[in-house]
Amino acid sequence: MSEAKYYCGKCGSIMARGYMVDGSRSASASNIYNYYPSYWVEGEPRKGETLFGASESLNISGAAKFMVRALRCEGCGFLENYAV
Ligand SMILES: [Zn+2]
Repeated sequence: MSEAKYYCGKCGSIMARGYMVDGSRSASASNIYNYYPSYWVEGEPRKGETLFGASESLNISGAAKFMVRALRCEGCGFLENYAV
């Protein structure tokens, strides 16, 4: 994203730069969280496979992916996402 200032399309306030994460609590310590970036992935979601059968994890092999960047309105909280 460029360094230009962005303004909210809903209320006109300035938008702050950020990004999207997925968080999960650590299996080893309840007060530790792990954060991972979110991605936009091209196409339809496909379930993965493991040696033991179907997995809840998605198979994104071969698909184009881009990290999700987000603008958040400092006035009303509106989010605007970009995959760049
Ligand atoms: Zn706004």
